[in-house]
Amino acid sequence: MSKSGFTTQLVHHDHRAHLQHGEIHQPIHPSTEYAYTDARELAAVFQGKPGYTYARQGTPTTASLEAKITEMEEGQGTVTFATGMAALTATFLTLLRSGDHLISSRYIFGNTNSLLMTLENLGIAVTLVDATDVAQVETALKANTRMVFVETIANPGTQVADLEGIGRLCAQHGLVYVVDSTLSSPWLAPGRRFQASLVINSLSKHIGGHGNALGGAVTQTGLYDWRHYPNIHDAYRKGDSHNWGLLQIKKKGLRDMGGTLSSDMAHRIAAGAETLALRMTRICSNALALARFLEQHPKVQKVHYPGLPVHPQHDRAARWFGNRFGGLLGVELHDSVDVFDCLNRLRVVALATHLGDNRTLVLPAAHTIYYEMGPERRALMGIPDGFLRISTGIEDEADLIADFGNALAESPWQG
Ligand SMILES: *Cc1c(COP(=O)(O)O)cnc(C)c1O
Repeated sequence: MSKSGFTTQLVHHDHRAHLQHGEIHQPIHPSTEYAYTDARELAAVFQGKPGYTYARQGTPTTASLEAKITEMEEGQGTVTFATGMAALTATFLTLLRSGDHLISSRYIFGNTNSLLMTLENLGIAVTLVDATDVAQVETALKANTRMVFVETIANPGTQVADLEGIGRLCAQHGLVYVVDSTLSSPWLAPGRRFQASLVINSLSKHIGGHGNALGGAVTQTGLYDWRHYPNIHDAYRKGDSHNWGLLQIKKKGLRDMGGTLSSDMAHRIAAGAETLALRMTRICSNALALARFLEQHPKVQKVHYPGLPVHPQHDRAARWFGNRFGGLLGVELHDSVDVFDCLNRLRVVALATHLGDNRTLVLPAAHTIYYEMGPERRALMGIPDGFLRISTGIEDEADLIADFGNALAESPWQG
């Protein structure tokens, strides 16, 4: 049978897996422990035979979600976590050691930026670069560089890293290339298209999509041969060397660190994921319409959205993401408009953090997620005080435009 399309594959995944009663959803498995009638079998599973032992290392429900994410990412294996941050933490902490060097885009999610500061405290050197330009990544390379980390589309500035160029550079130098795909989702482009070694998705965002479950995932693309990576423990240097890195992430990240996704949340995320392509189509078209509307509004200074031709990486985004540009907009209001006052006038859009939800959400970024890091680091990351992060949902386009139009019209204007 030829391979089905993205959504067909997703919605028929579970019943094609020949579940016990022909269920169309993988059941929610609540068991903490898994019992065996043969002690040798129990030992074999502990020693690496596929199976379940203790739910901290996964259940049939999380495994089913992992298989779906692997298919969406066109990868070769996935490990899920309780949150996107747990997935990132597990990836960095299990693959990097004190004395290693990590190159990261300086345009990244605020909490990830904060996590990188924790890595520095543990003796892992971090260089932040403008990753929209592969030359800057190349300049930052050192003998002890092990990994390069970027976001596909950066949260919240929407910069699009030189994903292909960095993929080539990492391949040349044998570096692990970790791509956080949260803002683009596998529907805009699977990470292996950019030669990523590992792809991170916050499942709390577009993939789950309904604002009712947290989760994260690390997918391996099968493009990196871990034989060349010094930090793999002997215990995980077994079998196909393309799997070693993910095995170490699973063993150290789930078994030892314990940031495990529950079966209940895995079910919610799997059900949400069925409509990823449908929701993203609407989310992307709403974002483009809103970006176009706000771009020409006199009370708006600047709109950051890769779908606008003025965006510095518009062309590459159009090429790589098939003319779809995601749901995140950065909006800078004119200096004379009070940001808080304007937000308080919105009637439809919710004032809340989070993104990739069915509901449109807006947040004053510098005063919230990026507050703790202070003005200097914010400036480096390109987040001015009046920066609004808008994540479009699936509402009717006219309602969104009217809501922002009214809020801006009512905002006092000294321009
Ligand atoms: C939200 C987000 C994360 C963290 O995901 P959680 O599931 O909220 O922990 C990581 N990366 C990016 C780009 C995000 O937007």
